Amino acid sequence: MIVKDVSFTPYYLKLLCLANRLDPYHKKCEQVRDRIRREQSGYIGEKRVLYPLKKLDFPNFVLHNTRLQTVFSNKHFQMDFLLVTSNFILIIESKNMSGEVMMKEGSHQIFHHDKAYDDPINQVEEQKFQLVNWLEQRSYGKVPIETVVVMTSPNVRMNIHPSHEEHVKKIIPLAKLPAYIRTVNEQYNQRVLSINNARQLAYYFKECHEDYDPDILERFGVASEELLQGVTCEKCKFLTMVMSNLRWRCTKCGHVSRDGVHTAFKDYYLLKGNTIINREFMQFTGITSRHTAKSMLNKFSVKKEGIKRSTRYFLDFNYERDFNYLKKK
Ligand SMILES: [Zn+2]
Repeated sequence: MIVKDVSFTPYYLKLLCLANRLDPYHKKCEQVRDRIRREQSGYIGEKRVLYPLKKLDFPNFVLHNTRLQTVFSNKHFQMDFLLVTSNFILIIESKNMSGEVMMKEGSHQIFHHDKAYDDPINQVEEQKFQLVNWLEQRSYGKVPIETVVVMTSPNVRMNIHPSHEEHVKKIIPLAKLPAYIRTVNEQYNQRVLSINNARQLAYYFKECHEDYDPDILERFGVASEELLQGVTCEKCKFLTMVMSNLRWRCTKCGHVSRDGVHTAFKDYYLLKGNTIINREFMQFTGITSRHTAKSMLNKFSVKKEGIKRSTRYFLDFNYERDFNYLKKK
């Protein structure tokens, strides 16, 4: 059963929004786009992991992307997939690399397209260490934890030197995941949780999950003034919506909408946060009439505080529902 499905993260939405509001020649544009490509590739790979997990023939609870606070600090650790059962928990780290992935004798890195990457077994074992402590602190210490690294691309060629026995066993192509899980299930044949308790634990993980949700401008060192002005068209995603006769119309694709300005509030929410004053809104959208801007703020904000020009308007949106326009193009 899928408890937490594969979905786009707030970080990914913020990246899309930032890329859309950066001039293509801006010095950070390529860096942002590169990050988007990596997030997309990870997402495609993670989608593929769900399919074999859905076919398991014993009760299980699956969570995608669970990010928990460590026991010892205010830092977080993140796991691509958690498979919670009555007998064990499996942490699945997913890697979407195609072509040759190599690990040489005596090396603690993997090589892919001449680039070196951290040992994924180290990564997933570190996640296990953090999860063991997290569970012990919450009286779930007796649940055994297993780990595996899944290569999700059908075009991957693994070339791990046989001296890395654990890596040969635990870094597997996606096609071998069901067999791997069956082996783990046979190995851990003692029930440590009832099915109900396993379900409760899975939902507890979901409840404790905290999204990675950074201040995206700070993260990439972009100043507000460097963002492109305008209102995003929800159809073609260009910043080409203009207002005429109480309607918004896209000069690029012709899309017409009475509430076309709503994307500007959503963009602002992703890039700058949940409060806005009239001057900031005019600067962000390029709307020149203070009166028009004010009436839009009144319509799209959920509450306001303060008086006159220092009135602060509050925005509230849902990451899962409200940002589909950014995923186009
Ligand atoms: Zn358009």
